[in-house]
Amino acid sequence: MSVLEIRDLHVSVETEAGVTPILNGVTLTIRTGETHAIMGPNGSGKSTLAYTIAGHPKYTVTGGSITFDGEDVLAMTIDERARAGLFLAMQYPVEIPGVTVTNFLRTAKTAIDGEAPAIRSWMKDLKVSMKNLRMDPKFAQRNVNEGFSGGEKKRHEILQLELLKPKLAILDETDSGLDVDALKIVSEGVNRAKDETNLGVLLITHYTRILRYIHPDFVHVLVQGRVAEEGGPELAERLEEEGYDRYLAGEPEPD
Ligand code: ADP
Ligand code: MG
Ligand code: MG
Repeated sequence: MSVLEIRDLHVSVETEAGVTPILNGVTLTIRTGETHAIMGPNGSGKSTLAYTIAGHPKYTVTGGSITFDGEDVLAMTIDERARAGLFLAMQYPVEIPGVTVTNFLRTAKTAIDGEAPAIRSWMKDLKVSMKNLRMDPKFAQRNVNEGFSGGEKKRHEILQLELLKPKLAILDETDSGLDVDALKIVSEGVNRAKDETNLGVLLITHYTRILRYIHPDFVHVLVQGRVAEEGGPELAERLEEEGYDRYLAGEPEPD
């Protein structure tokens, strides 16, 4: 079993206007085999949490700690985080012109495992995973994210998840922009990884829809950079009915 421990995390982002604190003391523990949903209103810091775990240079940790199996994640390079078994699917994946999906995946696999995968079994795995995700085989020869539709981007991320076999995946708004069929296919991919590799999942979402397909063990509500409430799946059901208004009651009402 592996465990990601986030302790009293404070994170700021630097902009032209100055340094703005975004996370104000977040504490979370995620073990492999568990699925945690992070929910919350827009702008509450969900993506900031994901980017900070992944090591995005824009976000500065001003307090607290993140460890993975006791190792200091914040002291690791982005590559070291990936090799340790952390995986981030971003809300806005980037294009990589001139790099095909096949080459990208093989390079990533080689970097993470420390050796190139045997070509035959690799091609077989790639084929099986693409078929699982109902992806056209021609897709493998396209450049990463170039002209990909929203659904294709998400499927490509889950393809990475299936092939790279991380210990813990952070999925940021993987449900955004997906129609129901694509959402089911993507969710099945995540559930397969949960079953087959005991993947731990940090599922970041504004809406409860994806939680019908990927069932959370724990739900955390992030509001203004803090965990405002925690519970089990029933908390997601309540949020579906009530929304986030109760957490924002202290905000001035618009007239
Ligand atoms: P969420 O994912 O919950 O919608 P974010 O983490 O994206 O929230 O953003 C939280 C707050 O931090 C927002 O007010 C947002 O404008 C600000 N923020 C996040 N990233 C940046 C950035 N790179 N530059 C400027 N402001 C940012
Ligand atoms: Mg958002
Ligand atoms: Mg976000």
